[in-house]
Amino acid sequence: MKFKKEKASEINGKPIFMYVNRMEGYPKVFVSGGMHKYENTKRSAMSLITGKMSLCELNLFNDLYNNLDLYIVPDINPINYAGLNRSFLPEKEFREYKFIEDTGPFSLALDLHADVEDETFYMYERRHSNRSIMRHVMRRIKKFSDIGEKQNNHKNEGTLEEHHWRKGTTWSITTEAPGKCEKSFSDMVNTMTVLYAMETFLWINKAPDSQ
Ligand SMILES: [Zn+2]
Repeated sequence: MKFKKEKASEINGKPIFMYVNRMEGYPKVFVSGGMHKYENTKRSAMSLITGKMSLCELNLFNDLYNNLDLYIVPDINPINYAGLNRSFLPEKEFREYKFIEDTGPFSLALDLHADVEDETFYMYERRHSNRSIMRHVMRRIKKFSDIGEKQNNHKNEGTLEEHHWRKGTTWSITTEAPGKCEKSFSDMVNTMTVLYAMETFLWINKAPDSQ
C-alpha cells in the first residue's frame, strides 16, 4: 500500500486526516468512515488503507488501487458531532469540510455507516448517470448477507451523500452495514461493498469500448 497520510482539515482543534493514493489521470474515488462514532465504520475504512483484510479482498483491492485515484478519510467526524450528516446544506457550508469539494468532484464516493438496529444490509445511491452501481453491488452482497428494503426512498437532506452529488460526483453512495450482527461481519460487509462498488464502476466505465 502506498497511501500518504495528509492533514486535510481541522475542526475544533481536531485534525481530519485523509489517506491518499494519488494516481494522476485516473478516476477519483472518495471513501469516508466514522460519521457516526457508535457505528464504528472507521475500522472498515482503515482496513482499505492498511490492507488488513482477507487475502481474497486484498487481491481485489490491489488490482483496483492501481486504476483509481483514491482518497480515504477514515474518521470524517473526529469531534463526534451528532448532527453532522444533516448539516451539509447549500445555505450553510462548513469551511472545515471544504476540502471535500476542493478535492472532488469524484467519479465515485462512498460514506460508510452501519445500522446498529438492523441485521440486514441496505444502501442509498444518488447519481448523475442512468446506470446504477448500487444494483450490482446489492446483487453480490446478497450472496453472504440478508438485504434490507430501505434503499429505495432516501429523502434525507444535508447528508454527505447528497453534498457529494450536488457538487458533481457521479455516483454517491451511503452504505448501511448490518450493525446488529457481529462486528467483524459488519466490517467485512462494508469493506466488500467498497471493493465491489469500485470494481463495478471500472466495469461500467470500460463497457462502452467492448460494445
Ligand atoms: Zn450512520
